[in-house]
Amino acid sequence: MEQRLPEPVKLHEEKTKCPACNKETLEVQVYLYQVPIIGPVTMAVGRCSNCGFTFRDVRVAEQKSPQILRLKVTKPEHLNVLVVRAPSATVKIRGLSEEGDLEMKPGPVADGFITTVEGVLHRFKEIVDFLCEDPEVNREKCLQVKRALEDAIDGKRRFELIIEDPEGVSAIASHETIVEPMNIKNNTQTEKEMREDEN
Ligand SMILES: [Zn+2]
Repeated sequence: MEQRLPEPVKLHEEKTKCPACNKETLEVQVYLYQVPIIGPVTMAVGRCSNCGFTFRDVRVAEQKSPQILRLKVTKPEHLNVLVVRAPSATVKIRGLSEEGDLEMKPGPVADGFITTVEGVLHRFKEIVDFLCEDPEVNREKCLQVKRALEDAIDGKRRFELIIEDPEGVSAIASHETIVEPMNIKNNTQTEKEMREDEN
């Protein structure tokens, strides 16, 4: 299915200090997207020409309280809904694995992204493809999850997309999105504090 992302507008670019190597070689570009239902979304992309450090931060302009976003994906049109995931948010797919939710957690390699629900499924599939190559992993169960993700991408499986967003800057651009307040657990708070310390 076709992905329809709005065209970004470049707001500015600058060279600044890299948090990894401390040299003034981090090139940062800031883009603005206008997303229907959600409104303006900014994306900052950084790359250090000295050490290769990269980051991508994505957030809606209007910050909310810590929140959990849920979308029940029950028809193929839902696959085209745009999703904004801030790097600090956890993304879960419920209903495709008997083992429980599939999870994409924030971490050192966590990246913000703006994509469609289908694009989120492709990201999960890439992770599962990688995991299935690991000899320590139960290959049969891994392939089951992979097939479930492929069926979901083809619009043949229902599931629920859940984003746990401690900063309140992620979004799912559908009027059917359910928004609930999120109780911040200690571990999430610690992660957020560590992130702030890095900056
Ligand atoms: Zn660097």
